[in-house]
Parts: sequence; C-alpha cells; structure tokens
Amino acid sequence: MDEVDYVIVGAGAAGCVLAYRLSASGKHSVAVLEAGGPDNHIWIKVPAGFNKTVYNPKLNWGYETAPGPHIDNRKIPFPRGKVIGGSGSINGHLYVRGQSADYDTWAQLGCRGWSWDDVLPYFKRAETRAGGDDAVRGRAGPLSIQDQREPHALSDAYIAANEALGLKRTPDYNSGDQEGTFLYQQMMKNGRRWSPADAYLRPAMTRGNLRLIQHAFVEHVSFDGKRAAGVRYSVGGESRKIRARRDIVLSGGSINTPHLLQLSGVGDPEWLKGISVEPRHALPGVGRNMRDHYAARVSALVKGAGSLNERSHGLRLVGEVLRYAFTRKGLLAASPSHAGGYYRTRPGLASPDMQLYFAPASYAPGAYGTSALDTRPGMTLGASQLRPESRGHVKALSSDPAVKPEIQPNYLAEQEDRDAIVSAMKYLRRLLQTRPLSDYVIEESFPGPAVQSDEQWLAHVRASGSTTYHPIGSCKMGIDTMAVVDPLTMKVIGLEGLRVADASVMPTMVSGNTYAATNMIAEKASDAILAA
Ligand SMILES: Cc1cc2nc3c(=O)[nH]c(=O)nc-3n(C[C@H](O)[C@H](O)[C@H](O)COP(=O)(O)OP(=O)(O)OC[C@H]3O[C@@H](n4cnc5c(N)ncnc54)[C@H](O)[C@@H]3O)c2cc1C
Repeated sequence: MDEVDYVIVGAGAAGCVLAYRLSASGKHSVAVLEAGGPDNHIWIKVPAGFNKTVYNPKLNWGYETAPGPHIDNRKIPFPRGKVIGGSGSINGHLYVRGQSADYDTWAQLGCRGWSWDDVLPYFKRAETRAGGDDAVRGRAGPLSIQDQREPHALSDAYIAANEALGLKRTPDYNSGDQEGTFLYQQMMKNGRRWSPADAYLRPAMTRGNLRLIQHAFVEHVSFDGKRAAGVRYSVGGESRKIRARRDIVLSGGSINTPHLLQLSGVGDPEWLKGISVEPRHALPGVGRNMRDHYAARVSALVKGAGSLNERSHGLRLVGEVLRYAFTRKGLLAASPSHAGGYYRTRPGLASPDMQLYFAPASYAPGAYGTSALDTRPGMTLGASQLRPESRGHVKALSSDPAVKPEIQPNYLAEQEDRDAIVSAMKYLRRLLQTRPLSDYVIEESFPGPAVQSDEQWLAHVRASGSTTYHPIGSCKMGIDTMAVVDPLTMKVIGLEGLRVADASVMPTMVSGNTYAATNMIAEKASDAILAA
C-alpha cells in the first residue's frame, strides 16, 4: 500500500499552506489528496470571474442549506470550492483578519496560544504587503495582499458618505482595530487572483517529497485502535488507500471535515447510529457549533457614475477586455466588493459588530453578488453581522460518502442577530441619502420606499438575505465537552495521528471574511505538527 509521512486531505486555503510547510525541510514525504481538479479555468484567475465560478458545478461541491426556519424556510445555495486552491480559488479576494479581540476571546475560551499576540506573527509570516505598519504587517510571505489599482468613483463617494455619518476612514483595517470605512485589501498579484495554490502549493510542487493527487475523493479514515492509520479514497471510480506514518491532517473545510469524521465513526454516537455508522470515537461536537455570516442588502439606481452594469456589455465590454489584457485594470480587475466599513450598531458595544460591503453594481433579484448584473445602472450596499449568536450544524445523512450532508446554519435564530441586521439596513438607507453618495442616486430600487417599519425591514432580510460563504466552527478547538480539536496540537481529541487544520476549528466567528484566519490557522498548525 502507498505510504507517506503526512497525508493532507484537501488542497484548499489551509491544505496548500500545510503542503508547503510540511514539505519544506525535504525530510518528510507528503501527499495532498484533492477531490477537485486543476485550477486552470480562466475565470479563476480574472478577479471579475467570481460570478462565473461561484456556482460552476465543475469547480464546486454544489451544496445548499436545509430550509431555514427563520428565513422563510428558504434553502440557500452554499458554494464551496472543489478545485485546487479550494474555496480560495473561487472566493471574493477580500483580505480581512478580524479584530484582535476575536483571538483574545479564543484564548479566554481555553484555546491557549491563540491570543492576538500569539497569532499575529503567523499573519505576518503569511503575507507580503506594501502598506501599513511594520509592527502588524508582513513583508515577505507567500500571500500577496494588494490595494485596488483603480478605485471606482462610487466607492469614493460611499466612503465619504460613511465619513459624513461619523465613521472615520481607517488607514488599515487589518491592524487589529478595524473600526472605520475603507477600500478592501485584496488577495491579488498584478491584477490577478493570488490563490492559496499560487502562493503556496505551486512553489512547493518543485520539491521531490510532495505529491498532489487530484480528483481524489477521501471517503473514510481507517484506524488501528485509537490511532488513525490511513484513508480510503476514490479516483475515477477506483478505490485506493494511502497510509500515514506520522499524521493525517484534515483540511477539507467546515462542511467536509465534520462530514468525513462522521463517515469514519467519529462524532455524536446517536447521530452516527441514525445513519448506520458504527461509532468508533464519541465526540458530540463534530458538526455542531457551526456559524456563518448572513448578509442582506439595499440597492439603488444611479446616474452619471459609470457603474459596472453599464460597462459590462457591448462595445464598452470589449474596451474593458482590452484594457484588462494590456493593463490589468478596469472592470475585469475588480472583485465583487470594493469598499466597506466596520461600525457599531448601538452604543455600549466594545467594538464594531457590523461589516459593510459596497459594489458599484447592482444585481438581478437573487443572492447578493452572485447572480447576473441588473440591466440598469446601480449600486449595492450590503451588511452582515460580525459575530452572530445563531448556530447550526453539519450532519451526515447517510453512510454513503456521495450523499451530501445536511447544512443548517440556522440564520437569524437569535434575537440579537435580527436586531443588528435590521439596524444595519436602516443605516444603509441613510447612506444612500447622504452626500456625496446621494448625488448619484435616482431612487432606492431594492427593497424600495414601501419598507419603513422594523417589521418590514426584518421581512426584507428574511426574504432576501444570503450567506457570505463563511462557515466555521463545526470541529471547534477548545477544552469543553463540545470541543473536537486540541488547541495546542490540533489533534482530534482522544485520537492519535489525526489532526484538523481548516476553518472548522475556529471556536467562535472572527469579525470578517474567513480566509485570512484560516490561512493563519494552517500556518500555526504546521508549526505544531512539525514540533511533534
Ligand atoms: C464563494 C466564496 C466567496 C468567499 N469570499 C471570501 C473573501 O472574499 N474573503 C475571505 O476572506 N473569505 C472568503 N471566502 C471564505 C474562504 O474562502 C474560506 O473561509 C476558506 O477558503 C476556507 O478554507 P478551508 O481550507 O477551510 O476550506 P477550502 O478552502 O474550501 O478547502 C477545502 C478543500 O478540501 C477539498 N476537499 C473537501 N473534502 C474533501 C475530500 N473528502 N477529499 C478530498 N478533498 C476534499 C475541497 O475540494 C477543497 O479544495 C469565500 C468563500 C466562498 C466559497
């Protein structure tokens, strides 16, 4: 049977980092098993390709949520990358670390070694960033973090309107203190996506001790007693096995990692019996504690702004294509969100509880940022609560690995989450009415002036909100009875030879998009694994 020192399941945001770090010394043999295929699709590289990749079934696991009891029983499409680079190859490019308090909270919850001071060196080690303070920004890491090359006039007006409402412009929202308004920093290099595969995997593939096995769907972890020994995977219908002399590291992401553990008999014994999987190791937290950001939006028709709607067809599009080809600027170099902010929805909060998104484009009815552009010129203002209280789960529905798990984020289950997002919607409308942004507005097109009371705003949020693609926490680190992963070693608690390093280990939600935190987790986990 095939045997290596380390088996990594998943070549996504975390898996690529682990492949790079675990193979760096040349002393260890490493195999990365990825269910998806090559990341050579043109729209992966071009930033504006987001809309074309996000639901592409060739690049995607094609999940959707279970009906949400607090969002009018809607099912929501739930994209996850199934391609080299994982969700890092289809995401929205935004680089957001969160607040220093997020990580201090992790430490207070028992995750020793995960305070802001502990994790900051890993954020710095990971990135190359030109701007910001040396004390908090990295200068020579694999990840390229760049500013927008050509900010849109509407983004500038949006930032100025935020300032007029009292939200200061912040020079670097990734310094640990994020409050303020800004243009988003992006995971790009020279106008192209800079994915985890670009940053970490490809440079490491020149090493003779790293092997990438594509189209390899890992279906089961096998054990010798309490020690994980190897995995079974399928390639093109053929079943294969590979053993790990040292460790198997699960980096399949917040949906697939708990699913794989459950299929392998690790989880809540009651859940496992329900699908006829023999419980091997009881860990009730596997698949529980899942959280996600839920966003809602307000849109307006605009005039005189050159919105992306006007530039995305006909001769103007031809011009944009040529511009991008020769200068790597313009419409095609833009990610779905351009500007944003972090603010407090009510006095008395210690730090911002709301994230803002802005796009100089409007979308046809459907999920924000993911559906086709509207035919009329417009702009979209979005918001999502940073640290939602609502929790959901990921649960295997069958012992057959091909059957998708149930994903129930339970959006808006908690009153605090509902109050915060309703307050944010009213703030977004005020922004539309504030100069200089209001100079461009013809009218609010969505949801429109008929929505006035808090009840109406909540109905709007329930009916039209969507995921911002940030599931975390389904195999959380910790020391309580629902913890799945040991925070010091990243081992699955009670087992040997099996570790988890991906977004699923976050014990609570970080204040913002989850890629940067996942990248940092993998950087830190690689040190823990090599130290052993
Ligand atoms: C559409 C979208 C937009 C996003 N936008 C942003 C953004 O702008 N900024 C930001 O910070 N974050 C964003 N995110 C979130 C961010 O990309 C994720 O938090 C991050 O990629 C999670 O990393 P991960 O390693 O946990 O999982 P992933 O990156 O999803 O990687 C998991 C990998 O494991 C593979 N895999 C899973 N199961 C198996 C198996 N059984 N066998 C073999 N391989 C397997 C998958 O195919 C995948 O390649 C976005 C996500 C999506 C989906």
